Amino acid sequence: MLIVMDRLATPAQIESVLDRIRSLGLDPHPNPGAQRTAIGITGNTGAIDAPVLEELPGVLEIIRVSHPYKLVSREVQPENSIVPVGGVCFGGEKVIVVAGPCAIESLDQARTIAEAVKKAGAHVYRGGAYKPRTSPYAFQGLGEAGLEIMAKVREEFEIPIMTEVLDTETLPLVEQYSDCLQIGARNMQNFSLLKKAGKANKPVLLKRGMSATIEELLLSAEYLLSGGNRNVILCERGVRTFADHTRNTLDLSAVVAIHRLSHLPVMVDPSHGTGKRHKVIPLARAAVAVGADSIMVEVHHKPEAALSDGPQAILPDQFAELMEQLGRLAPVVGRTI
Ligand code: PEP
Ligand code: MN
Repeated sequence: MLIVMDRLATPAQIESVLDRIRSLGLDPHPNPGAQRTAIGITGNTGAIDAPVLEELPGVLEIIRVSHPYKLVSREVQPENSIVPVGGVCFGGEKVIVVAGPCAIESLDQARTIAEAVKKAGAHVYRGGAYKPRTSPYAFQGLGEAGLEIMAKVREEFEIPIMTEVLDTETLPLVEQYSDCLQIGARNMQNFSLLKKAGKANKPVLLKRGMSATIEELLLSAEYLLSGGNRNVILCERGVRTFADHTRNTLDLSAVVAIHRLSHLPVMVDPSHGTGKRHKVIPLARAAVAVGADSIMVEVHHKPEAALSDGPQAILPDQFAELMEQLGRLAPVVGRTI
């Protein structure tokens, strides 16, 4: 349920509505908009006594939210959310480009790639310190040493960083180092991780599970917002289908679908979405054309020697070419890079 306050409602009236909601054993989530405040209500197991709330001073109307998710929905917040990551804003006019290797392998590797992507215009640097690998024998990441390298890169190249958090045990450590907590496709429905990230003081990048519907993705994001963390970016990274010309099938229509339903910024990851270097640049362009708020691309200077996801990494020169192309494409769809 959503309570829409009158445009002229006073702060005291808003406060007393919040108190009333709490007195009913429910959780109010006030959302001050440009025109008026909307208050989302969660914590109810059954129907809420709407008439009681409707009569409170300053209340304009009560809207029953038609989706199972609430706080992530456009019904609760019609305006786009702007999510700041280390000073870079996701969800505004500017399309945010996140680039870097799949995994942090060494300081030298991380620096070489960071220097190249920063020079070409990347806004945020990515790299995994804790890697979710299908095989237990594959490179699992450098762990805390990888986080330290990321922090050095941030300092040297003055670029915010994002890295994946694999589990609840390492979340405090990743939170300490990273500007944004990435929750990967395999963990999209790790509910204990979502609950903990909902209490974290850093923004979260939530990637769509490889067989998740949009509703499931939005409900996972709802865990984060209902826990108190409003700074959430969603990411389409491809879903598993029968197609075998590509690692995953990049569902670009998800961008449009999510924008219609939710106010959260949407990123597209054409690297994991395709798994093939030659497909990354065309689909990155398509992502911007379809309205993505951000793209994430994996870049490696020696992909043949990369410890993970080499076949989908583009080369630094290709990344520079992509940035140049996006600079020309973005204005066509009313965006900047
Ligand atoms: C990644 O971004 O490095 C990653 C593992 O992505 P995903 O969770 O989408 O597979
Ligand atoms: Mn990867």
